[in-house]
Amino acid sequence: MALSQYQLFINGQWVDAKDGGRFDSLNPANAQPWASFSHAQEADVDAAVQAAQNAFEDSSWRNLHATARGKLLRKLGDLIAANKEHLAQLETNDNGKLIRETMGQIGYMPEFFYYYAGQADKLEGQTLPLDKADMFAYTTHEPLGVVAAIIPWNSPMYLTAVKLAPALAAGNTVVLKPSEHASATIVELMHLVKEAGFPDGVVNVVTGFGADTGAALTKHPLVRRIAFTGGGAGAKAVVKNSAQNLAQISLELGGKSPNIIFADANISSAVNGVVAGIFAASGQSCVAGSRLLVQDSVYDEFLTALKSRVERIIIGEPMNAKSEMGPMATQAQLALVERMVAQALEQGATLVHGGKRVSPSNNIHSNGWYYHPTILAVDNNQCSIMQDEVFGPVASIMRFTDEAHALALANDSQFGLATGIWTRDNGRVHRMSKAVQAGIIWVNTYRAVSPMGAIGGFKASGYGRESGIDAVKDYTQLKTVWINTSSEPMADPFVMR
Ligand code: NAD
Repeated sequence: MALSQYQLFINGQWVDAKDGGRFDSLNPANAQPWASFSHAQEADVDAAVQAAQNAFEDSSWRNLHATARGKLLRKLGDLIAANKEHLAQLETNDNGKLIRETMGQIGYMPEFFYYYAGQADKLEGQTLPLDKADMFAYTTHEPLGVVAAIIPWNSPMYLTAVKLAPALAAGNTVVLKPSEHASATIVELMHLVKEAGFPDGVVNVVTGFGADTGAALTKHPLVRRIAFTGGGAGAKAVVKNSAQNLAQISLELGGKSPNIIFADANISSAVNGVVAGIFAASGQSCVAGSRLLVQDSVYDEFLTALKSRVERIIIGEPMNAKSEMGPMATQAQLALVERMVAQALEQGATLVHGGKRVSPSNNIHSNGWYYHPTILAVDNNQCSIMQDEVFGPVASIMRFTDEAHALALANDSQFGLATGIWTRDNGRVHRMSKAVQAGIIWVNTYRAVSPMGAIGGFKASGYGRESGIDAVKDYTQLKTVWINTSSEPMADPFVMR
């Protein structure tokens, strides 16, 4: 079958990489190449950043009233809504995520564009109550310039929306670099950016790999802001690169998020929350609730209920609306999951469920990268499966005795992205929410997202926040204007009075 062909989008034009280089994306459901992308090198990245800089300086964008910017964002949201089925199918082909998940996620994307569209003309400055007579001062929020947005493969559209919408609302221009494993929706989105009426160069896409395309973009001297979502190794490289352009950075990284089930929790609700937390998207979610901490007295009851639901998870082709779990996004990710489960077993973990690849059946293609939903029982928070991010469908489960023990285990982690707390005790909800070191706390729920709710981590889970009312300000710089209102001339600074 002929591969879908995708080009770079630079200055409103579809172009090939200057050296003609290309790479393929494989469909995780059958390991077959399905699309071919231009491989952007330094010269292509430079052209994209220059286009974004020119657009930033051009009056068609710079002088566009903020209300008009908001209208463009609203139009883009409408176009995404009108094209959600097509975009969802592309994303499912690209990263193997279930069509029911990509439809749900992309169907919700317009809300992010509407939310930030409304903020575009509400970026108000302040007048300052100065301690100086005859002096008036005010502040304005100004855009930064060219924003480089680096996107991972697990939720390309969502993780683009949370960067693109506030960056544009604030008046910046953007160069997007999607993951080499899942670029299709982001390139396709550019048709909608054009149709919405954004001036040429305001949004650009370069496709390619992290070490070349991503590195060239994040060290480019004209980039003023980097919004990075991905793993720790890429993040450290990006921080180093930014020493060359002193761009501001936000880092949305991984996690080892605990889901804490207290004895007074509604157990069936907690089981649903845990399944959503770790087995949705085959565990390939930054906020995956991969560490299950369960109070002694309900441990057996909870594990029995969890196991019974997990045994019934329907593993199937991602395009099948009935499938509840699909493949891993890449072969390398599948191999990593296998290695990490084997290591956990060597370190003394007990296999409760799964722990192997799915055998081919009528439900799945024999070449697909499927792994069973897996539960590992452990009794030591130091073992690697309790400390390292798997980014796969692997939950490790451990007992705790009381609230203090649960808290100590929850915080004994290099990460601090999310935490789930399952209890009916209101006092405990507040005590735990205050003491847990994580950027997102979900109480009696898990994986809830909204444009109004900020997402981001403590510790090695990164810094900066995406979504929420303040995100747009992270794409601005503050200017303070001082005005002497006196009718007297300014005094000679060297004359003592
Ligand atoms: P990754 O770090 O391998 O890649 C992410 C992006 O960074 C890709 O576009 C990649 O090409 C680029 N990149 C890699 N090295 C780079 C470099 N040296 N310079 C510039 N760009 C570079 O991550 P991944 O495997 O695509 O995604 C999985 C990771 O992302 C997990 O750790 C996951 O937890 C994290 N993640 C975090 C969030 C969040 O919001 N906190 C959301 C989704 C995923």
